[in-house]
Amino acid sequence: MTMEDRGLLLILSGPAGVGKGTVCKALREKMPELVYSVSATTRSPRPGEVEGVNYFFKSKEEFQRMIEQDELLEWAEYVGNFYGTPRRFVNDMLSEGKDVILEIEVQGALQVKKRFPQGTFLFLAPPDLNELENRIVGRGTETEEVIRKRMEVARGEIELMDQYDYVVVNDVIESACDRIQAIITAEHLKKERQ
Ligand code: 5GP
Repeated sequence: MTMEDRGLLLILSGPAGVGKGTVCKALREKMPELVYSVSATTRSPRPGEVEGVNYFFKSKEEFQRMIEQDELLEWAEYVGNFYGTPRRFVNDMLSEGKDVILEIEVQGALQVKKRFPQGTFLFLAPPDLNELENRIVGRGTETEEVIRKRMEVARGEIELMDQYDYVVVNDVIESACDRIQAIITAEHLKKERQ
């Protein structure tokens, strides 16, 4: 099989709270042919979450073993829990020519970029990111220390944005989905012409 026959690996990432999960869910409803990569995590299931559907729920020991045996394409610690993408499933689906989507936080996305640079990296941005600095400074209600910390985080996020192929503004979920769908179509056309 040639590279052209393989599916696209789409990485949907972005800052905490930007709505990655919501956009990903809406996108999958719109594009049922898109294969969603179910992550492994050490966090406990939330009510309604189903093993193998939302996550593969693992103990810390099991997760550690997956890391050691190089079973994860990427992994990251996020708010005290581990999250990672099982590599095998992603590879199998891509080999079958299917498009695969990962919905992961930014540290993990950067790891994927190193190991899988041919992926399509989408940064989901809040609508007011450019205004963020002005707002943080201009608000005038925070202590200097808080402003400094927030600026640091904001700058970090903005810097990371440069490493992505596309920035998709999440203003309205439906519009964000339309933009991502258009990107997927364009990426397929690009691939065909390679
Ligand atoms: P939650 O606990 O709310 O389901 O997810 C917390 C964060 O972990 C979200 O930002 C989500 O995108 C991210 N996440 C989920 N699965 C993975 C994964 O496999 N790898 C990485 N790096 N982050 C993940």
